[in-house]
Amino acid sequence: MAFHIMAKPSGSACNLNCEYCFFLKKERLYPGSNFRMSDEVHEAYIKQLFEAHQVSQVTVAWQGGEPTLMGLDFFRRSIELQKKYRKAGIRIENTFQTNGILLNDAWCRFFHENGFLIGLSMDGPGELHDFYRKDRGGQGTFDRVLKAARLLQEHKVEFNILCTVNRKNADHPLKVYRFFRDELGTRYIQFIPIVERDNESGFQEGNRVTDRSVRPNQWGRFLTEIFDEWVKRDVGRTFVLNFDGALAGWLGRAGTVCIFGPTCGLGMALEHNGDLYSCDHFVEPNYYLGNILKTPLIDLVASEKQRKFGNDKRDLLPRYCRECEVRSICNGECPKNRFVETPDGEPGLNYLCSGYKAFFQHADKPMRIMAELIRKGRQAEEVMGILEMEENNLKAKFEKAGRNDPCPCGSGLKFKKCHGK
Ligand code: SF4
Ligand code: SF4
Repeated sequence: MAFHIMAKPSGSACNLNCEYCFFLKKERLYPGSNFRMSDEVHEAYIKQLFEAHQVSQVTVAWQGGEPTLMGLDFFRRSIELQKKYRKAGIRIENTFQTNGILLNDAWCRFFHENGFLIGLSMDGPGELHDFYRKDRGGQGTFDRVLKAARLLQEHKVEFNILCTVNRKNADHPLKVYRFFRDELGTRYIQFIPIVERDNESGFQEGNRVTDRSVRPNQWGRFLTEIFDEWVKRDVGRTFVLNFDGALAGWLGRAGTVCIFGPTCGLGMALEHNGDLYSCDHFVEPNYYLGNILKTPLIDLVASEKQRKFGNDKRDLLPRYCRECEVRSICNGECPKNRFVETPDGEPGLNYLCSGYKAFFQHADKPMRIMAELIRKGRQAEEVMGILEMEENNLKAKFEKAGRNDPCPCGSGLKFKKCHGK
């Protein structure tokens, strides 16, 4: 069985105070806890994780809160445990999500020696990053995170950028994208929309969002503008997980990202004390599956409760989604964002719907071309040459068109009323 667990060895504890962080409120789930995974839970987790996997690769995914708060020795111990329990022929990959603040040469050497893949949280260039990403003293963290990125590069540690898209940086898509591509020099980027419910519990309840949350149309424009630049010059060079994940839909394949799949439920979250929850976005009492010290991990993963959680993604899709022209690509996106009503009043529509719909419609043609290329065993990056040729052909037709001719763009209007204006 292939599944994925995000382990939170320091629970939701973090050394920063980013305004939109949903993890901080989760500290209330474990009042009085020291938020440190004990050696007993750690060993039980690694042992059970390896026992439960029947595939050739196992990912050990660390995140938080902020996992560096555990100290390097915790992860050295983890490598020992992984060696102890690994089965012959199994490839192990460690992934590690961090805000970068505590990284130094020792951490980076360790990551390099043990092949860790790092996810570094960064929201764009200085003024955009610092707007919400502040430390506990209210100071921006950009300079420290940039230093961490340079250190990772120096030590040849592979890292992805995880950029949260909020109401502030969402208006600057190209500035954000070009910063990562050109100034930071990273090849792997993932954009995560901030959709933060405005309530006291910190759980997925209510239908109001905070004013830090990205607006649906902003999100659609953000993706569209970056896509347009990417598809003309960066395919095969810069990897944007959002686009790769969506392309899987055009290929009719199970994608690499759970949010666009028809069902989910194969990505769970493990708290520091061994409690397992249905998903990292649903670390709350209703989605508690059990504790791995009492019930074997595999039984919790395969439980009826978790199966229902995953299938509900498909089974609770409102009619508006089921009849949507981009349903097979979007699948209603993540259930955590499904808290608004459809135009005909049915609950369960995704808050980001209008943005996604606009983006998927816009990206349809180049995505179809890339999907076709891949199906024929060719490279997706050939799309760049194809689009350039089409653009040049169209320009040549514009130059030749008479004022009263139909517009070559295919709008059905006369050239003088359309592109010839
Ligand atoms: S709830 Fe959302 S993030 Fe969690 S597994 Fe399902 S689609 Fe993925
Ligand atoms: S674009 Fe909107 S209507 Fe279509 S599947 Fe996605 S959330 Fe549903």
